[in-house]
Amino acid sequence: MMERKLVFGVAVGVAVGACVVAAVVVGRRVKSRSKWKRVVRVLEEFEVAGDTPVRRLRQVVDAMAVEMHAGLASEGGSKLKMLLTYVDNLPNGSEKGTFYALDLGGTNFRVLRVHLGGQRSLSLEHDVERQPIPEHLMTGTSEDLFDFIASSLKDFVEKADDPDQLVARRKELGFTFSFPVKHASASSGVLIKWTKGFSIEDMVGQDAAESLQQAIDRIGLDMRVSVLINDTLGTLAVGHYQDPDTVAAVIIGTGTNACYLERTDAIIKCQGLLTTSGSMVINMEWGNFWTSHLPRTTYDIDLDVDSPNPNEQGFEKMISGMYLGDIVRRVILRISQESDVLGPASTRLLMPFILRTPSMAAMHEDSSPDLTEVARTLEDILEITDTPLKVRKLVVKICDIVTRRAARLAAAGIVGILKKIGRDGSNGIAGGRSRTDIKLRRTVAIEGSLYTSYTMFREYLHEALVEILGEETAPHVILKATEDGSGIGAALLAASYSS
Ligand code: ADP
Ligand code: MG
Repeated sequence: MMERKLVFGVAVGVAVGACVVAAVVVGRRVKSRSKWKRVVRVLEEFEVAGDTPVRRLRQVVDAMAVEMHAGLASEGGSKLKMLLTYVDNLPNGSEKGTFYALDLGGTNFRVLRVHLGGQRSLSLEHDVERQPIPEHLMTGTSEDLFDFIASSLKDFVEKADDPDQLVARRKELGFTFSFPVKHASASSGVLIKWTKGFSIEDMVGQDAAESLQQAIDRIGLDMRVSVLINDTLGTLAVGHYQDPDTVAAVIIGTGTNACYLERTDAIIKCQGLLTTSGSMVINMEWGNFWTSHLPRTTYDIDLDVDSPNPNEQGFEKMISGMYLGDIVRRVILRISQESDVLGPASTRLLMPFILRTPSMAAMHEDSSPDLTEVARTLEDILEITDTPLKVRKLVVKICDIVTRRAARLAAAGIVGILKKIGRDGSNGIAGGRSRTDIKLRRTVAIEGSLYTSYTMFREYLHEALVEILGEETAPHVILKATEDGSGIGAALLAASYSS
């Protein structure tokens, strides 16, 4: 059963190829009608191959829980790395003072300052500055990247009109570095590999916190990197600060990842691990999750083959913002090769990543009767002009299939985590929620533009959660969107781990 699905996905591709040949042989008769039929068939085949009925989602849930176990049992036991973070205590609201954070790991990097009053507050007072990372720095040297970041940090610190600044006290910084890191402690860890388009070879195997600290020292800033975390852990920290029932955090932005609070005795690969809380946050690196139950299509296979990291980040490639637009482009490209309903061949369609996920979302959510936004996007980005309405509708449908699948798979991943920690409701809900009964805590903090800015994505994700969990359990699972959590959380953790 497991293998057959993958084979089916490939077989569809072969069948389509055969159709093209057959169609050429048949000749020009009934051309236009059969052409449209071919287009519809491409779409139908895509829809079937990428389908996510609830029974398949449940298989993904189970596979996620199984892989989590395997990744915790032994090093390299699963595609899920299940990395230890050495963070065993999450912020509880009593933190006090002014703390800094630096958030690096996607399209933008952010510097933040958070003021903590020592009492839990739902709105965390903070200043933030965002900047895109110049592309040449994403593939240059680590020194160039960190010098650039440290100098932005220095500018930011010096601009503050905060009375705290006048006190010549060493500042504390939480560093959110959203790439897979192997930790030796909560404040140090080496980069395992780059993801999301970054590639700075001399950094792999280096301590990210130390590299930043050295750049901070070079520029003459009196600041200590006191914790090294990733965006999911920052989000979990903010979620937990605001609601102690928060057990996990998920990011769906440029990439996707999740972390959660695990009992130390379940972390079998690290025997004798002792923490005061009896638990530790595990960074799953779930972007690399894989199971043959995932509804993989020929487009996913092609995208993977063309990517700089084939056979890696398979889950991420079906879910996150970096890739969704490109899956849509690939389906549109196939249609333009099968027929001329899109007009003369556009070379733009051959350009990887030219169709970005925000543009895809704008087409998907176009509510105008004649789909003017779709027409405009096809024209401006893909140079496909004068599309008839039925073609625009077809494009919307493609966006819908891609996003719906992504959101539903993300939902299955979330339930997989809850299942692993026994909070997916499969053991029944014992009479209502209680703050003291650990079995019932199940708030999941969530962040990233796909969830926060792409309404259809969010709605499909919620819908799938209810389908998988059932009407009875679903209301007990609360998804809580945080904002700037990946950065603010680092400042909160810098506070809890401050010297
Ligand atoms: P990052 O992951 O870089 O920290 P975000 O969480 O904001 O930042 O995610 C950015 C990604 O989300 C981009 O790759 C982009 O493709 C996607 N994105 C941004 N805005 C939207 C939107 N309105 N609709 C859909 N996708 C979006
Ligand atoms: Mg982010």
